[in-house]
Amino acid sequence: TKPVVIVGAGHAGVQAAAALREEKYAGRIVLVGDELHVPYHRPPLSKAYLKGALGRDSLALRGAAYYGNQGIETLFGDRVISIDRGARKVELASNRELEYEHLILAVGARARPVPFAGTDLGGVVTLRNLDDADILKRELDAARHVVVVGAGFIGLEFAATARGAGKDVTIVEVAPRVMGRAVSPQTSNFFADAHRAFGAELRLNVGVEKIEGNAGRARAVHLTDGSVLSADLVLLGTGVVAEDRLARDSGLVCEDGLVVNARLVTSDPDISAIGDCSFHPNVWQGGEVRLESVQNATDQARVVAKRLAGRPVDYSSLPWFWSDQGDLKLQIAGLLVDSDKVVVRGEIARRAFSVFCFSGDRLRCVESVNRGGDHMAARRIIGDNIALSPAEARDPSFDLKAHAT
Ligand code: FAD
Repeated sequence: TKPVVIVGAGHAGVQAAAALREEKYAGRIVLVGDELHVPYHRPPLSKAYLKGALGRDSLALRGAAYYGNQGIETLFGDRVISIDRGARKVELASNRELEYEHLILAVGARARPVPFAGTDLGGVVTLRNLDDADILKRELDAARHVVVVGAGFIGLEFAATARGAGKDVTIVEVAPRVMGRAVSPQTSNFFADAHRAFGAELRLNVGVEKIEGNAGRARAVHLTDGSVLSADLVLLGTGVVAEDRLARDSGLVCEDGLVVNARLVTSDPDISAIGDCSFHPNVWQGGEVRLESVQNATDQARVVAKRLAGRPVDYSSLPWFWSDQGDLKLQIAGLLVDSDKVVVRGEIARRAFSVFCFSGDRLRCVESVNRGGDHMAARRIIGDNIALSPAEARDPSFDLKAHAT
């Protein structure tokens, strides 16, 4: 019989295979991934793994024996290079062809192209996969002056790690504030101050003109305001775009990612798309969105598995996210929307607080710093639509946990 073929063995692809078996899907499953490693957790790459606090062996999503034990056929180190939708088969870089009953694209994202010169110099790196992390680790050991371009999650996590290793760090961000797309101004300002306190220099509202090299290696970063930063290591943390090339080549509808419906089916009913590559209707956003999180990847995988096992559901999970920066743990429940009321619980000065963002009388998003209890409660309160007033949210004597259960 023809298998379900899953393309991409990251968080979404591996979870899709696992969830199919959990849903008692009895047919063949083939998981194709172009990386040679046993599929692994990506978040530690910019955190514990980079610091050396977590070894390679601890990164695996599932033990190497798991796949065989579950009857999941794996083709790691191979790449799908084209889809023949008419014949329902994919072609692999190894020249093999695979027919499919259903195709799940879980191909993730790739670094966003940047508009300045010098990105091919030695010492200029992006961080998306384990091979990148190994290169970055080596480069960081040898570096003195580190420039981080982009103050998003990965840029800031890396900056904190580099400061922890005693490097001279400058963070360059073209926007007026850090993590501007994802968090409220309150949380953004707190993290900007925190990174300054870690010892990094923060350059906001300024872009990169070019990276200058010497003998094929980066030596300086020129900014659009005319200033020049010494650099022997430059991390491009300038975001990612969906890995949509395969899908576009085969004529699937794409926007900011592979367009899918509420059941995560693409414009071809025999093909689903999940994880970082999917541009999906999100009830919490109130429109289509592409999300980059472990939560989104794994929950979307479960939704597709349910459908293929004959129990279709719409994707409706509450988005949540975390980021570790130095000794600060940021956890986000919900999605940041234009909020008309923002209240703070806890104390910003004590580095343990949560920012509650309301829109009308509805709580939409909670950003917690070193307050894991608030985060867990917030996920319940927002997800289950439990009423909470701004006054209750800010009142330290109000029992949030009890309210959420
Ligand atoms: P990926 O995990 O990227 O997997 C896609 C896989 O498909 C890759 O292995 C890719 O090589 C492979 N592939 C692509 N095309 C093909 C092809 N044609 N044939 C075969 N294989 C193919 N999220 C959080 O929630 N919290 C965090 O703290 C956090 N930290 C992060 C830190 C880093 C350094 C990075 C890079 C990401 C982080 N994320 C974090 C985001 C999270 O890791 C992603 O959202 C998640 O990995 C998405 O899963 P995915 O399966 O969609 O994509």
